[in-house]
Amino acid sequence: MCGSRSVRRLLVDVHLRSGKVVRGVEADVCPKCGERYYDLDAVAKIEKAWTKRSSPRRVAR
Ligand SMILES: [Zn+2]
Repeated sequence: MCGSRSVRRLLVDVHLRSGKVVRGVEADVCPKCGERYYDLDAVAKIEKAWTKRSSPRRVAR
């Protein structure tokens, strides 16, 4: 965190460790150091994608 206050609100792609990509997440991006700050909505969106299973299991009958 460089303390810059000239962050820009951008839509970014968040790459999760699982390899999944969450697209179109709003983040405040610092033009100086490139650090991203996510607001609550963005975090919720990321967490939702994180916990959501890419291939939902269904019990075949
Ligand atoms: Zn910064």
